[in-house]
Amino acid sequence: MPDFDLVIAGARVLDPETGLDETLNVGLLDGHIAALTMAPLRGERVIEAASLVLSPGFIDIHTHEDFRETQQSGEFRIPRETSACALRSGTTTILGGNCGGSNYPVGNYLETLAAEKLPINCLTLAGNSTLRKLLGLDEYDTASPSQIAAMKDLAGTAMDEGARGISFGLQYAPGTSFAEVLALCEAVREKDKFFAVHMRYDTPSRAVETVEEVIAAARITGAALQISHYAANVYGLAKNGLSNIDITARLIGESGADITADVYPYDTWATGIRSAVFDQGFDDFNFKVTDLEILSGPLAGRYCTQEIYEELRHSPQETSVACHNATPMRDIEAAYRLPFVCLGSDANMTLGADGHKKGHPRAAGSPARFLREFVREKGLFSLMEGIRKLSLLPAQRLGLGRKGRLQEGCDADLCLFDPQTIGDRAAFGVDVCALPPTGIRAVIVGGKLAWEEAPPEVPPRP
Ligand SMILES: [Zn+2]
Repeated sequence: MPDFDLVIAGARVLDPETGLDETLNVGLLDGHIAALTMAPLRGERVIEAASLVLSPGFIDIHTHEDFRETQQSGEFRIPRETSACALRSGTTTILGGNCGGSNYPVGNYLETLAAEKLPINCLTLAGNSTLRKLLGLDEYDTASPSQIAAMKDLAGTAMDEGARGISFGLQYAPGTSFAEVLALCEAVREKDKFFAVHMRYDTPSRAVETVEEVIAAARITGAALQISHYAANVYGLAKNGLSNIDITARLIGESGADITADVYPYDTWATGIRSAVFDQGFDDFNFKVTDLEILSGPLAGRYCTQEIYEELRHSPQETSVACHNATPMRDIEAAYRLPFVCLGSDANMTLGADGHKKGHPRAAGSPARFLREFVREKGLFSLMEGIRKLSLLPAQRLGLGRKGRLQEGCDADLCLFDPQTIGDRAAFGVDVCALPPTGIRAVIVGGKLAWEEAPPEVPPRP
């Protein structure tokens, strides 16, 4: 009689919380890590894992795996493609509802998520822009004191129903006043959750003031803050010639507030072409209209001309576009070196009506690209520190005490990979954007083998 449901034998086991880094046998039982030992273990299934690394499953604190279709009669449709890409990347838990946009009511949405039986754990924030819409406010409207009070109540209900916190998309909803931000942050503090912010500006000349705004909200209210895609908003040089990342990292450190941030490992942004991001024109950006690559809809894969840009900008249907060369690589590296910065992919992969996968490759490539480029090739930090940024740091921010860790009693959400060959294959373009990485041997969710690399083909005996 085997003692365990699944045994991973002889892997190099990394736990970023205790610093454990040893070759061990790991036994999983009833969804939990039940044994970590040098002794042999008997399992119903045994995976031989010599020369592979076993780490906690990755936790992606910034995704957009949310229903995006018209909400009809309280029904939600979940796209599923983002979580499918995440699973093959070693990610076992994702957080949606970022950048101000989410589903409401949260309770119904979480019930739908549970019924969908997605392959990984899916959590959500409640989005401020979504709450604003419920009150009839458009992105440039400023809420009255009574509307702010109503929004605070809606936010509290959303968190009571299971939202992990509140997200803001201040750049997408420029009418959001600081008073509104403070009121929702008070609700966050009262529920002991966190607020995630896509900040108000993303140009080098306004980087410091945009970070100062969110630090002030965290300091005044005492709410914990997750800065979303930090290097995508904060990059380049300030007017005094100093790096915006360096200046704002110092402000964050000196604030005394509970602040963490996420960064995706790409220099290319993606956003909706109709969003307020482009309202002020292109003068302050590193890219031009013709650098925009279309990521969704029938024109996916093509670059904008001025005519196509104008047409999509005024279309009733939103189109996702990639903005190439938007963030200098040195700023992405500088941000990753900061101990409070984790990986967040900003993933949003869709399956088009034409049956093709469309989106930014970060949905399928982020963790593997991070481990290949920043850990193995550039050596910015140790493998253990890389794993901490992929698992423990986001688990701590989300208050998940049994995830992001590889210890007896913790949830058996695990990633088994080859540190020498792990790498991203996803690239810009239709379908290739969703290519799974190399080097990920198996992904375990809740103690079950949720994804496994196909074994190499053995040639038939002559
Ligand atoms: Zn965002």
